[in-house]
Amino acid sequence: MCFTKKMPHASQIVISISLFFMSMVAVAQKTSDIKQFNLVVAQVEELKKTDLVLSLKQLTAFENVLGALTVEQNLLYFKLLAEIQIEQNRYSAAKKTTSKGLTIGKRLASPSILMSELSYLRGFAFESLGDIPQATKEYKKGLEAAESLHDKIQVAVGLINLGAIAYLTDNYKRSLILLNDAYNIAGQTDDEELKGTANTELGIVYAHLGQDEQAMEYYQQSYIHFKKAGLLLAAHNSLHNIAISHIRKKNYDQAITVFKTIINESNKDTPSDNMFNIYSGMAWAHLKKEDSNPDAAYEYLLMAKPYLQSTEKIDHQLGFYFDEANILYKLGRLDEALNSIARIEELLVNHQEMPRRKRKGYVNITNLKAKVFYKQEKFKQAYETKSRVIILTDRLYENEDNRSITQVRLRLENEQADKQNKVLQSQQIRYETSFNEAKLESEQQRVYLILGALLALAFAWVLIKLIQNQRKLKVALSVDKLTGTANRRSLMAKSKQAFDFAKNKQDDLSLLMIDIDHFKDINERLGHSLGDKILAKVAILCQDGLTVNDIFGRFNGEEFMVCLPKTSMTSAMEIGENIRACINKYSWQFSHIETVSVSIGVATLIDDKDLITLVKRAEDQLYQAKASGRNKVCG
Ligand code: GH3
Ligand code: MG
Ligand code: MG
Repeated sequence: MCFTKKMPHASQIVISISLFFMSMVAVAQKTSDIKQFNLVVAQVEELKKTDLVLSLKQLTAFENVLGALTVEQNLLYFKLLAEIQIEQNRYSAAKKTTSKGLTIGKRLASPSILMSELSYLRGFAFESLGDIPQATKEYKKGLEAAESLHDKIQVAVGLINLGAIAYLTDNYKRSLILLNDAYNIAGQTDDEELKGTANTELGIVYAHLGQDEQAMEYYQQSYIHFKKAGLLLAAHNSLHNIAISHIRKKNYDQAITVFKTIINESNKDTPSDNMFNIYSGMAWAHLKKEDSNPDAAYEYLLMAKPYLQSTEKIDHQLGFYFDEANILYKLGRLDEALNSIARIEELLVNHQEMPRRKRKGYVNITNLKAKVFYKQEKFKQAYETKSRVIILTDRLYENEDNRSITQVRLRLENEQADKQNKVLQSQQIRYETSFNEAKLESEQQRVYLILGALLALAFAWVLIKLIQNQRKLKVALSVDKLTGTANRRSLMAKSKQAFDFAKNKQDDLSLLMIDIDHFKDINERLGHSLGDKILAKVAILCQDGLTVNDIFGRFNGEEFMVCLPKTSMTSAMEIGENIRACINKYSWQFSHIETVSVSIGVATLIDDKDLITLVKRAEDQLYQAKASGRNKVCG
């Protein structure tokens, strides 16, 4: 076998040379792409604020040269693209984009903040499309990345995202913890937008908890921060939230005034989602205000309608048809109202994964449906629909988290709902029998029957109204408004149950009495309103290390109590010490205050004849702690 060295043919030389030049050109091209992209990024960032379509065009010009760009640049490309798509409400597209970005990002050797941003964007796309579990996963991934990079701003953003998800799924305690953390971290930065966002989200949770005053304060703060940051749209959102708070407090005229301000200040750049919210808010305020004006309400709703076409948001679609059904009902356009209700039912059937909050909306809409049937004199259908409302309400609370402070309330409510069901059932039977008989009876008897049915129906409605009001009352009766925890009444009721149980079974049980030190001074120095905030935060901090079986609540003013079932003196002292230390080392973002401390008294069940005796002994220990210098745990 021999090896001959073949001389290259002339044509091969030409090819080699041209290949060489081509690769040189490619390298040159590649460098120029990299440079070019960096230039365009800055332009796209700017354009994104004013002209989404043009910014998209500039960006996607790089679609075919992505291979020539660095991994970081690829990530930036997909991040910007997803941001634009989200601005355009194209959430499904944003899902795909972020997925591509995150896949490419796996090639990175070290973590990048862009990965965190991409995860948040992906989470937001899922959230907007109603997939809460997936959104939570993505937000957690993003937060992990941000934490590994010690990026304060990005960590706060993640906490805010998760905090928002928590309240969307009715987990207010968790939401308050996450958002307060975000609020504090945001306070350590000079990012006005972040501060504005944290304030906004806290406002939303407090509004959910029915504390509109507090919510309004946070919204006003957020308005100031957003204005400082020069973010007009976000500032408008704050105004919008203020308007909504007015609506919740039934100050419809004030709400209308705020809405008008926003409309006046909006321009062509105001996104369609915002315009939709403003006009549908206007419609609702006009429908509900004292001298209700359903015609004006319908006009505003029609102004909202064009913006509905450009949104994928389920919330908006549900909201629109809900408003429409209510307005049409008021206008006496009953068949059309039923059409709107049918749209809602369709949406709900197609989105089974929706959180409970919206299921509550379903109960409301079923209620309205019954009212429409009633007005149309379709009594039988009205009855059936109304029975469904009760069953739905019952089911709605069936799966409620048993650990929550509403446990007692729920049991009572279910009993009430059961009773109500039976009343309705008997009425239904009575009605049906009479109805069948009526078919055979004379016309005159039929008239009597219908009158009777009407009366029975009216009676049922009065009862249901009563139950609904009681429901609200019961929530108010068991929850302390300021801290969102159990109030003294429910705290003592639950503790008594635990106490009796422990005494029967000769189990361990301990109590902690927690009192904030020198709180009068804190109030004097910072004002009552900040005092309130500190009080609420202390309540949250106290609960941090507690388990689901521990009972926590506000005992008095600035005094809290923890009842610890199956807990010995030694463990109770440890838990008390943890709480004391956790509050003591917490860094407050308010000026004029560095630390807040608490004193804690501990007592364990020995032969106390009742709960009060045990409480008394824990209080004695609390006084010991105070007397021996405060910021102490005594037992
Ligand atoms: P110490 O417990 O260390 O003895 O001092 P203190 O200043 O905390 O004294 P005390 O417990 O007697 O005072 C409690 C104060 O807490 C009095 C009251 O003005 C204030 N307080 C009670 N409830 C609230 C509330 O809901 N909000 C605010 N901001 N203050 C409250
Ligand atoms: Mg005190
Ligand atoms: Mg006190």
